[in-house]
Amino acid sequence: TYIVTEACIKCKYMDCVEVCPVDCFYEGANMLVIHPDECIDCGVCEPECPPEAILPDSDPEAEKWLELNKDYSESW
Ligand code: SF4
Repeated sequence: TYIVTEACIKCKYMDCVEVCPVDCFYEGANMLVIHPDECIDCGVCEPECPPEAILPDSDPEAEKWLELNKDYSESW
């Protein structure tokens, strides 16, 4: 799965949402998140993110953001 991280906070771009083929982005408190069970790992959103907030879960920086992506996307 891909994970939205810190750089997304208060970002106003929605480019990632537009390109995602499975619509697995959700709106969290002050950032967007990706539903980890719905993401099909296509990677299309990663280069579309202007602040480079989207990382694959293999990235060590992404790990601490996984729970938050899960929580926010499931509260919908
Ligand atoms: Fe959507 Fe693909 Fe990004 Fe996952 S990797 S959030 S499926 S665009």
